[in-house]
Amino acid sequence: MTTEPQESKKVIPIQPVVAEDSEEMVSLYAAAKKIYPRSVEGIFAYWRWITVFITQIVFYGLPWLEWGTRQAVLFDLEARRFYIFGLVLYPQDFIYLTGLLVISALSLFLFTAVAGRLWCGYACPQTVYSEIFLWIERKIEGDRSARIRLDEADFSMKKLAKKTYKHAAWIALSLWTGFTFVGYFTPIQELVATATSWNFGPWQLFWVFFYAFATYGNAGFMREQVCKYMCPYARFQSAMFDHDTLIVTYDEKRGEPRGARSKKTDLVAANLGSCVDCSLCVQVCPTGIDIRNGLQYECIGCGACADVCDTVMDKLGYAKGLVRYTTQNAMLNKWTTKQTLQRVARPRVLIYTSILMALIIAVGVSLAMRIPFKVDVVRDRATLARITENGGIENIYRLQVMNASEKDKTFQLSVNGMQSIEIATETEVKVASAQAHWVVLRVTIPYGSADAGSHKIVFDIKDTSGTDVIHEKSVFIVPR
Ligand code: SF4
Ligand code: SF4
Repeated sequence: MTTEPQESKKVIPIQPVVAEDSEEMVSLYAAAKKIYPRSVEGIFAYWRWITVFITQIVFYGLPWLEWGTRQAVLFDLEARRFYIFGLVLYPQDFIYLTGLLVISALSLFLFTAVAGRLWCGYACPQTVYSEIFLWIERKIEGDRSARIRLDEADFSMKKLAKKTYKHAAWIALSLWTGFTFVGYFTPIQELVATATSWNFGPWQLFWVFFYAFATYGNAGFMREQVCKYMCPYARFQSAMFDHDTLIVTYDEKRGEPRGARSKKTDLVAANLGSCVDCSLCVQVCPTGIDIRNGLQYECIGCGACADVCDTVMDKLGYAKGLVRYTTQNAMLNKWTTKQTLQRVARPRVLIYTSILMALIIAVGVSLAMRIPFKVDVVRDRATLARITENGGIENIYRLQVMNASEKDKTFQLSVNGMQSIEIATETEVKVASAQAHWVVLRVTIPYGSADAGSHKIVFDIKDTSGTDVIHEKSVFIVPR
């Protein structure tokens, strides 16, 4: 019997896996690419500049406005008093500030539901200051291509001079902005005197420079990155959009297939849509996106792409509006402007509007009917009660009367709630306009007229020049 020789098995050595030298580390961080927005003219750019002018005239001008002998708008945190033209508000009036914040939030919801990111594109300080800083940049360094060339160029005296001018102008504007901001909290005339003698308090100095630094950094360098990465509004805006919200949209059906062509090209024969793929809409975009890719959260709804595209359409003799403000429903159903606008008055918008109106009326009426003085009563904590020389029982209170009007006033004080209770000290208080005054009140009752314990009492504070009375509750302690 022969045995077939066994086929010798090949042994394949197992090679250890060795990392190749050429292996690269993949970084998850991508440096932000600088955006050079091109200047644009058109109806939306025009409206943006109008809002820039209005908001900045108000911001820089308001602290210089006088109201009688004082600054018209001043938030005097040290004295805990806020002056808004004829209104003098105390921290106790915080409810009005809450009302104002709720009104602002609801207005934002309403405008967003109707017209998308109207606030972002036209009135947000980040947009407004970026627009102003960009204007300065253009004036000194030129438009988009000139700025790109300048940044790519090697160092030269010309480049240094341009950059120095630009930053000097930005810093001057930022410092002025910081100074104006502090002027809302410290009388601005005093601030000027302080500045000329360089006698700033530590907090004034800190806030002028902090606000200036924030303006310089956000509007000069961060720009669209604030909108993309820092602003929470961009994140939840889509929750407020519906298919009838006006948004900046590219009409894909009309625009595609995109491509270059001459004015005489037969679009049907060349199978071309209206978009000439000039990329101008991308070049003017302050956030550097391409609106032709659809609605993106980076889009601040500024309409710059719509403006520039209209100029392109004009030049080619095509109808405007390839990129336009429209709604998803209007685009889908090919609605006319009239049909689109009819959808503005939809239930959601009507609900927002009615709540907003009700709130504005409520805050307005409550402000108009507000009693122009406030009172705080605090029991003296050192002495609960004591027996007086003539045999009565005495409690001591500290009473703060705040005159929230523009006139000096006299107030009449009285107390009730217990048998024969009376104020043993001065019952008239004079308080100068917009000032607060503390008085110490000794309140007495005859000995034995009440049981031991705590009794509710009420102070009545009456404005002698009118009929306004404030009733402030407190307690009177009768010792055992
Ligand atoms: S500007 Fe208008 S035509 Fe030019 S690429 Fe943009 S959408 Fe197309
Ligand atoms: S896509 Fe158009 S509307 Fe949106 S941010 Fe850019 S330029 Fe403004």
